[in-house]
Amino acid sequence: MKDVQVDVLIIGAGPSGCVAAAYLHKHQVNVKVVEKSVFPRFVIGESLLPRCMDHFEEVGLLDALIAQNFEIKSGARFIRGETICEFDFSEKYTAGYDWTWQAPRADFDFALTKELKKQGVDIAFNQEVVAVEFDEESASQTTIKTGNGEHYRIKAKFIIDSSGYGRVLPRLLNLDKPSTIPEHSSIFSHVKEEARPAGTEGTFITFDVLDTDTWFWVIPFSNGNTSIGFVGKTDFINSFEGTPEERLAQMLKKSSYYYERFKNVDFLFEPKSIQNYSKSVTQLYGKGYALTGNSAEFLDPVFSSGVTFATESGLKAAKLITKELNNEFVDWEKDYAEYMKKGVSVFASYVKEWYTGNLQTIFFEGVDNKEIKRQICAVLAGYVWDETNPFVKNHHRLIKTVAKVIRLEKRSISN
Ligand code: FAD
Repeated sequence: MKDVQVDVLIIGAGPSGCVAAAYLHKHQVNVKVVEKSVFPRFVIGESLLPRCMDHFEEVGLLDALIAQNFEIKSGARFIRGETICEFDFSEKYTAGYDWTWQAPRADFDFALTKELKKQGVDIAFNQEVVAVEFDEESASQTTIKTGNGEHYRIKAKFIIDSSGYGRVLPRLLNLDKPSTIPEHSSIFSHVKEEARPAGTEGTFITFDVLDTDTWFWVIPFSNGNTSIGFVGKTDFINSFEGTPEERLAQMLKKSSYYYERFKNVDFLFEPKSIQNYSKSVTQLYGKGYALTGNSAEFLDPVFSSGVTFATESGLKAAKLITKELNNEFVDWEKDYAEYMKKGVSVFASYVKEWYTGNLQTIFFEGVDNKEIKRQICAVLAGYVWDETNPFVKNHHRLIKTVAKVIRLEKRSISN
C-alpha cells in the first residue's frame, strides 16, 4: 500500500477518536482514523453520562445516535440491602443535559463511525498501528499493518492516540504509570431477558452494592438484552472457580435483589474479565501528540465516567490541534493537561471515597438534604468542571466531612 500524508492521524475509532475526528473534519482539517478492529466490535462501557451529549451535539454526531433509539438513561439507582438511593439528572445543580443513554457499545460505536463516514471522514478499519517515530520537528511516521499483513506508513503533523486499552503511545513511548485508584477487577456479560419486569424496574440502570468493595451492575438495553457485571477486589473476583459462566453464575447468588431475575438467564457470550483496569500516564501530551480517552487515563466504572472523559478529551485535543494548525499559540500544559486533570481529580475523589465507604455513607445513610443531592447529582452527570458546585470545588474534603457529620448525627441519635 502507498504511504500517505495527513495533518492529523487518530488511532482508534471509539467515542474519543470519533468525536475528535468529527470536530477536525468539520473544521477542514485533513484527518485519518486508523482502527484495528472491524466494526461492530464489542467494548465495555455502556452507561453514559449527560455531559457527553454536549460533545456529540457540538461535533454533529448527536442526531445519528438519537436515530438508534438506545435506552434513555435519566438517572441512576444505587441499592444496598434494603436501602435505595436514586439520582434523577433533571434534579442536578449544574445546567445541561438531563438524560443520556445506556447502550451496547458495539452498536453505539458502529453508529458513530457510520455517521463519520457519511460526513466524509477517512476511517480505515482492520488496520493496526504497530510503530511510531517522531522526527526533530515532532512530525511523525506511523507504521500501519493491514488485515492482510501489508505495511504502509502515515506521515502526520499530529497524532491523537484514542486507542483505549490498546494504549499505543503509552506503550511505545513508555508513558505508563500506576494509577492511584485501589486495584479492582471485573467480570461481565450480556443476557437476553425473556421476562424483564415491567416499567422502570425493568429498565432502570442499577448498581447493587454488596459490600464496600464489591458491586454488581445491571444495564438494560432497548434491544431487550441486559449487561450484567461484577466489580470487586481482584482477589475476590478471582476467588470464584470454574468456567467464566460458572464464576459469574456463582457471583449472581451474592445479589439478593437480582438473583431471582437473573438466575436462569443464558449469557449471550462467554463472560469477559478485565483485571486491575485502572490506568494512568506520566504525561497527557508531547510534541506532536495528545493522549485521549482510556489511552490516557481510566479510573473505575462505578460512576460511568469513562466515555465522558473520552469525548471530553477527544474534543479538547481536536480543538487545540485545530488552533495550532491555524498558527495560533496553544498552551498544552494549561489548556489540555491541567484542564483534563482537574476533571479527572474530581472523579478520582469520588471513586476513592466510594471505596473508603464515605460516599456510600452519604448515599445510603444521609442524602436527605436536597441541595447536597443536587450538587452530587451534577457530578454524577459528568459536570465536573463547574467550580460553582461545592461538591466539585471542594471534592478533596467535602465528601469526607459530610460522611463524618452523618455518622456523628447517627451516633448522637442512637445515644
Ligand atoms: P475505546 O472505546 O476502547 O476505543 C479504542 C479503539 O482503539 C478500539 O476500537 C480499538 O480497537 C482501537 N485500537 C486499539 N489499539 C489500536 C491500534 N494499535 N491501532 C489501531 N486501533 C487500535 N465507561 C463508561 O462511560 N460507562 C461505563 O459503564 C463503563 N463501564 C466500564 C466497565 C468496566 C469493567 C471497564 C473496565 C470500563 C468501563 N468503562 C465505562 C470505561 C470505557 O470502557 C472506556 O472509558 C471507553 O470505552 C473509552 O473510550 P475510548 O474511545 O478512549 O476507547
